[in-house]
Formats: sequence, structure tokens, C-alpha cells
Amino acid sequence: MGKITGFLEYERSDRHYQPVEERIKHWHEFVLPLPEAQTRTQAARCMDCGIPYCHVGCPVNNQIPDWNDLVYRGNWQEAARNLHSTNNFPEVTGRVCPAPCEASCTLNLDDNPVTIKTIECAIADRAIAEGWVRAEPASFKTGKKIAVVGSGPAGLACAQQLARVGHEVHVYEKHAKAGGLLRYGIPDFKMDRIHVDRRVAQMEAEGVTFHYGAQVGVNVPADALLNDYEALVLTGGAEKPRDLPIPGRELKGIHFAMDFLPQQNRRVSGEPQDESNPILATGKHVVVIGGGDTGSDCIGTSFRQGAVAVINFEIMPQPPLCENKLLTWPDWPLKLRTSASHEEGAARDFAVMTTKFSGENGAVRKLHCVRVDEKIKPIPGSEFDLDADLVLLAMGFVHPVHEGMIESLGLALDARGNVKADTVAYQSSNPKVFSAGDMRRGQSLVVWAIREGRQCAHAVDKFLMGATTLPR
Ligand SMILES: Cc1cc2nc3c(=O)[nH]c(=O)nc-3n(C[C@H](O)[C@H](O)[C@H](O)COP(=O)(O)OP(=O)(O)OC[C@H]3O[C@@H](n4cnc5c(N)ncnc54)[C@H](O)[C@@H]3O)c2cc1C
Ligand code: SF4
Repeated sequence: MGKITGFLEYERSDRHYQPVEERIKHWHEFVLPLPEAQTRTQAARCMDCGIPYCHVGCPVNNQIPDWNDLVYRGNWQEAARNLHSTNNFPEVTGRVCPAPCEASCTLNLDDNPVTIKTIECAIADRAIAEGWVRAEPASFKTGKKIAVVGSGPAGLACAQQLARVGHEVHVYEKHAKAGGLLRYGIPDFKMDRIHVDRRVAQMEAEGVTFHYGAQVGVNVPADALLNDYEALVLTGGAEKPRDLPIPGRELKGIHFAMDFLPQQNRRVSGEPQDESNPILATGKHVVVIGGGDTGSDCIGTSFRQGAVAVINFEIMPQPPLCENKLLTWPDWPLKLRTSASHEEGAARDFAVMTTKFSGENGAVRKLHCVRVDEKIKPIPGSEFDLDADLVLLAMGFVHPVHEGMIESLGLALDARGNVKADTVAYQSSNPKVFSAGDMRRGQSLVVWAIREGRQCAHAVDKFLMGATTLPR
């Protein structure tokens, strides 16, 4: 274990952010890494508990106490090897994971968890800087061909695992580049695209073939893939956004978050797009409806584009500032979370329902709202109006898009409209077709997508070969 008395000697100290006035002037990452000595001191705080709750709290079951000890001792290379044995893309989770591991850390009982995410990121970044992240091509080929549809974290993790055990893997992606929401959803200021490009290059060197502009079920027939490949893995995400069908919804200036965010991400990376009618927050009063990561990313993007003001509405009541540890630990608690984007100046209001949009000349100008009680029932007399000339809907995603690929394959769906498959076999109602990530579990997190991609690869390898050496 780190240092036996580390948790008694050292306080938690985590990465800082660039000041708001500096960071909203650019699109780069703004989290300042800890110096090496401080990272090692933080790793020394790990108590190596008999039952490492963090290890279970982490969806990819990162062996956190092991690499905390290795970092404390300065053995970064072994820490990197250990970390990559459970997580294909730790530099990604080290940047964007909400860190359920830290909620389950025993030191969180005292509100002082080990800075696990920061240490993970430091190990991953060190591995990249030292050249320890290399292609790991398989030493033999199985002769089996697998198609993976969708190149988000689930598809990438699955494809990488399958290629490393010798299968010929082809990834079909409807967009011009790989990464899914890692590229087109999450803004560059949270995670630079270099991290996606580097992994795609690594996977190409491991033999994975990427087919871009290939929308399965639209310009690539799904049954052709079924004929050409021994297995088909669907990792197309949960792309159907939740709408707000209220009067005035048709007005100009009301957009889904995922119509707004990808435009800016493409602009930052120089990817060509139609700029004839861009959605921009510049000089506007912006209202973001919906909390969560997507809402938060809309806020940070709006400020960087030069919004006059940004207000964030949430229909649910404001959660408590602190959780009751004895009731919630080691589980993920419901509590008020304030993201770096919120801190950039967004006003937040809870328990607010938008009932109508109104406008002038076909464009939105006002939101009409009412406050709601704990049962989401409108409180009479609490109605109010608000000026808005850009409204971004960030109320989550209901399920995958059914039209096209899923319908043409005739797959069974679960009660929530996701592709029906369990988390052992990951097999859909068609035995040759597998599914993982948001397409199977519904909208979730990057780290869950990586877990499902890895576990699905295990299942597919076993299905094709009768046995597998891939970890679950
Ligand atoms: C704006 C935003 C911010 C987020 N921020 C965070 C965060 O900070 N931390 C976090 O942990 N999670 C975050 N999430 C959630 C996280 O991004 C997702 O849970 C995760 O990306 C899901 O991975 P996936 O591989 O299952 O699907 P996706 O990342 O959605 O990838 C699916 C891919 O499939 C492709 N595709 C779909 N259908 C087809 C088809 N028919 N043919 C070919 N290609 C197809 C899509 O183009 C896409 O590239 C965020 C989500 C959003 C929307
Ligand atoms: S992947 Fe997420 S949960 Fe797992 S160790 Fe990293 S930050 Fe924690």
C-alpha cells in the first residue's frame, strides 16, 4: 500500500483550473496537471483497504490501490501496464469520467477521497509521453471477420480487444471521423481531440480498418454486413434526443444540444461543414434546458462563443449540497454537482418547467415557465417569463435511433427501446448480432461504454472461437 500513514499525514489536494477569464477565451483543455511529487504524495494517501470499494465503484474495475502504490514508489511504467490491463483509454477517463471510484473511496466517508482520477490521468499521460503506448498487433490471425458499427468508446474498445486476439475487425462509422461522442459531443476544452486521434492511429496499426461516411441501414445495407462478417457488433449509441413538445417548439433558435455541440467541435478541429446557417451563442441570451454533462457542455461552449448570459434550467428540485454518507456510501450519491462550465458564470434554477415558447418573426424571444413541486406538479401563481434568443435542449436521450439499422435487422428491443441483450453474452435476438454501450444500456458514461465494449469483445471472441483469453 502507498505510505502506511499517508492518509493521516497528507490532505487531499487536486488539480486546479485556469482562471475563468483566461479559459473562456480559448478552446483548449484548462485543467492544470499536478506536479509529479504532488501526484505521488496523493497516491500515498491510499489506504489499500481490505475491500477496495473504489475497484468495484469503477465500472472498468481499475486496480486502483495497486497503481496508487506503484505511483507512490515512482514505478510509473508498471502502473501504466496495470492501468491499461483494465482500461483501453485511461487518458480519456482521466479527463471526462465523473469518478464514481472517488465516491466509493473509504476516505470519502470523511469527504476526502484519494484523487484517483487525477492519478489515473497522470499515469496515462506519462505513458504517452514516455512512448509506452504502442500498437499491440496480434501475433497470429484467426481468419474471422467482425464488423463493429459505431466508433464511440464502446465500439473502439470492442474493436481494439478483438483485433488484439487476431480477428480482422472493420469499424463502420457514419461520420467523417472516429470517436462518437468523444469527438462530436464532448467539447475540446474538456478533452483535446488528439487523444482520440492517437488511439485511432494505434488501432489502425493493430490492423483495425475504419470505414467512414458509412451509415449502416442507410447507405450500407445491414444484411450485407451480416453476409460478409462472422459477427456484427452494434455500438451506435443512444442518439434519439428527448424533445420538449410544447407550443412554440417550431420557432427558430430552439435546438437540440447535439445539433449545437458538434458544429463547434468540427470548427475547432477544422473539419469541413456547412456553415451557411450556423447555430451560435455569440451575443445571445442563452437558455439551456436540462442539467447533466450535455447541458454543462452547452454552457461552456456558449460562453466561449461569447454569449451575453446563460441560464440553466432543471425540472428536478435542487439536490442536497452534501449527501448523507452513511446512507449512500459507497454508492454514487445524489447531490448538487457544479461543473467547471457552471462556474464560468451560468445562472442555475431548479424545479422549473418550461410551458411555452413565444417569438417574433418566427424566432424565439421568450420562455414561459412555471415552478413545480416535488411531484413535478406546477405551483399555481409561480408563472414567469424569460428573454431568450437561443434555447438549447439538453434533456437527455431516450434510446437509440430505430429507423434504419435496428429496424432492418429486425432486432428485439427492451422496455426502454434499447437493443435487447444481456451483459454476459451481449447477444441480440439475432445470435450473430451483438450490442454494447449506450445502444444496449441507454445513455450512460464513457467508462461504462468502455466496460461494455471490452466485455462484448470477450463474448464475441468466445462465440467465434469457443473459448477466449480476453478479460471480462
Ligand atoms: C454532450 C455530451 C457530453 C458528455 N460528456 C460526458 C462526460 O464528460 N463524461 C462521461 O463519462 N460521459 C459523457 N457523456 C456520455 C458519453 O459520451 C456516452 O455515454 C458514450 O460516448 C457512449 O459511448 P458509445 O460508444 O456507446 O456511443 P457513442 O459515443 O454515441 O458512439 C456511437 C457512434 O455510432 C455511430 N453510429 C450510430 N449509428 C450508426 C450507423 N447506423 N452506422 C454507422 N455509425 C453509426 C455514431 O455516429 C457514433 O460515432 C456525454 C454525452 C454527451 C451527449
Ligand atoms: S475510470 Fe472513472 S471510475 Fe474508474 S478509476 Fe478512472 S476516474 Fe475512477
